[in-house]
Amino acid sequence: MGTVGVMATLSRLTQVSVGELKGIGSSRLATLAKSGIRTVADMLHHVPRDYLDRTEVTPIAKTLVGPEVTVVGEVRSVSSRRARGNLQITEARIGDDSGEIKAVWFTKNYPFRKVKEGDRVALSGVVERFRGSLQMKTPDAEVLDEAPERILTGRIVPIHPQVGKVSPQIIRDAVHNALKRSRPIDDPLPVEFKAARGLMDRDQAFASIHFPESREEIGPARKRLVYDELFRLELALAMKRRHMILEAKGTAHAPTGELAGPFLDRLPYRLTAAQARVLDEIRSDLTAPHPMHRLLQGEVGSGKTVVAVASLLDVIEGGHQTAIMAPTEVLAEQHYLGVNDLLAKAALSPGLRGEGERLGMESLFSGEEDPAVHLGLLTGSAAAANYDSGITRPQLLADVASGQVDLLVGTHALIQEGVAFSRLGAAVIDEQHRFGVAQRVRLKEKSDGAEPDLLIMTATPIPRTLSMTLYGDLDVSVIDEMPPGRSPVRTRLLSKAEEWRAIEHIEKEVGEGRQAFVVCPLVEDSPKVEAVSAVSEHRRLSLLMPDLRVGLIHGQLPSREKEEVMASLRAGELDAERLEVEVGIDVPNATVMVILDADRFGLSQLHQLRGRVGRGSHPGTCLLLADASTQDAVDRLDAMVGSNDGFRLAEEDLRIRGHGTVFGTRQSGMNDLVLADIMADLELLVAARRDAFGLVDSDPELADHPELAEEVSSMLGETVDWLFIA
Ligand code: ADP
Ligand code: MG
Repeated sequence: MGTVGVMATLSRLTQVSVGELKGIGSSRLATLAKSGIRTVADMLHHVPRDYLDRTEVTPIAKTLVGPEVTVVGEVRSVSSRRARGNLQITEARIGDDSGEIKAVWFTKNYPFRKVKEGDRVALSGVVERFRGSLQMKTPDAEVLDEAPERILTGRIVPIHPQVGKVSPQIIRDAVHNALKRSRPIDDPLPVEFKAARGLMDRDQAFASIHFPESREEIGPARKRLVYDELFRLELALAMKRRHMILEAKGTAHAPTGELAGPFLDRLPYRLTAAQARVLDEIRSDLTAPHPMHRLLQGEVGSGKTVVAVASLLDVIEGGHQTAIMAPTEVLAEQHYLGVNDLLAKAALSPGLRGEGERLGMESLFSGEEDPAVHLGLLTGSAAAANYDSGITRPQLLADVASGQVDLLVGTHALIQEGVAFSRLGAAVIDEQHRFGVAQRVRLKEKSDGAEPDLLIMTATPIPRTLSMTLYGDLDVSVIDEMPPGRSPVRTRLLSKAEEWRAIEHIEKEVGEGRQAFVVCPLVEDSPKVEAVSAVSEHRRLSLLMPDLRVGLIHGQLPSREKEEVMASLRAGELDAERLEVEVGIDVPNATVMVILDADRFGLSQLHQLRGRVGRGSHPGTCLLLADASTQDAVDRLDAMVGSNDGFRLAEEDLRIRGHGTVFGTRQSGMNDLVLADIMADLELLVAARRDAFGLVDSDPELADHPELAEEVSSMLGETVDWLFIA
């Protein structure tokens, strides 16, 4: 720092511990570290939450009781005395041309020693009336001749957020010390970006955000620092993308049409325009030589699965294996059955046996001809295949390794030790935000040589703002149109006392041959307690609806039992069902979704659950039971009633909860955004993204911008690790 004769760069400041700063000893060091403030660079990004305007100096004669004032004058006398215990009272008389005022300080053990008789001082604090005269009580004081740079009085004074027990005052002094020793801080941003975006110089920005000379400086200073933060993130994303496109070796798949052709022709419906467009986008990625990294977004029921399967058939035609990875066993099994059903409709696979029969694993194979597409299922507890009803787990693994299996559906079991593909060409990852990037990476390791193409599907709508950061390295396809004939789910809010209305509605729909879901209250962080409450809810509901067949499923059930419940549900043997939150249950005959204690669920969870009904030809109803007690909960429920548009709800969710909590995972890169607010700073995000991608286009390794390159890797910390695992 300061003592070294080189200009400080931000990356160098990430090498210096905050422990070097004035006032930060080991206990404060530990407290700060817990909040992620470890280095001087971190400290400089810990910006004031507010400012106190002490720029105006009031003549002493004009001071009034009440508001805070700053006065400047000479110390005419100081005296101190001990009061009770170890309390010390220090009094001083301060005078200027207009008059005189008393200041008083209370300290422990020692008198207040900052001011001496004869000093010229500035005092900022509130004025009160005490025994008939005015006095300033414990004002902040600075001796003007000693402190060429005032940080407390006569200026705009920053108020930094407290960190644990480390007070704003201590932080202010530490930041001041940090700036004093590191300035000037070098600015690596190309001047053309600075000019185009109207950005302040970096060194000035750090100075102005912490110790502004005027209020007008604060906005531009913040803008510059937010831009930098977004620019770093986008640079990392741009470099990663560049790497994937140019350097990673993928497979240029060579579809023949022999599978996908009949598959699409024999679907009982035509693809919507949105599905057709997205399928084209995926197909052009598949045939290109670089690996695909594409995010497929679409509401629940918009028809993502069918598009994904069609594209996997392209890959299988070209002689490669494929995989679909789902976040839960129930979902994996669901995908397995769903895909088998789709293939059966196209006569590419034997159909499921007789209507209404239990869809146990062993019933999937009807016997005779060898299916055109060899489909397997692998989860922690299940192994199945459409070409061998009695397949064992070791046999399935052997078939995957030998290339026998064309499409393997499963949970993260797919990427565990012991699973080896012979030539994995493409994989679909469903709801990857529940996996994290590590899994995405390991899936790639499953194929040697070329990287498999990846299609990441999500039914959780991600606002454009977020997908730019969260999935900033991916291409994005959106199915923004529902298949024809779907009527939107009607949503109603009921108080808990109105539960009978929900029961009545369930009975009516079941009477007409439909089915219903009842979702029990979410018990945060305790699947056990949640299971217990589900069991008792199940008993209660069975009593309330004695004529209905009520099933029960929850996270603690062994997966075998889950499968059985799901199978009888699909087969129409159950009327109502308590289900695991958010599992991608697809029961077209279900028309009622009742959510108990709906106020405990997040907005996107509620929307996901709602998407589970009305998927067939009959319109669905979603009944939210809640006595909401917080404003946030009321806002969420109102939003649910007011809109069926997942993208709008996602934006709403962001507004209500803030981006930090919406996506909590490490992968997001969001954790590294300490200054930027994705919603409020959208314009800057777009600008930073354009600049970063432009720069990486012309200088892929940032060879001409070494300081920027260094900054990206030193500032993004762990994030950068995942960003560069390609
Ligand atoms: P997602 O995976 O997006 O939730 P699915 O692919 O599971 O959606 O499709 C939901 C339902 O809609 C399925 O029953 C599917 O057969 C049906 N479906 C898909 N595409 C169409 C279409 N273009 N027209 C009519 N029905 C469709
Ligand atoms: Mg689906």
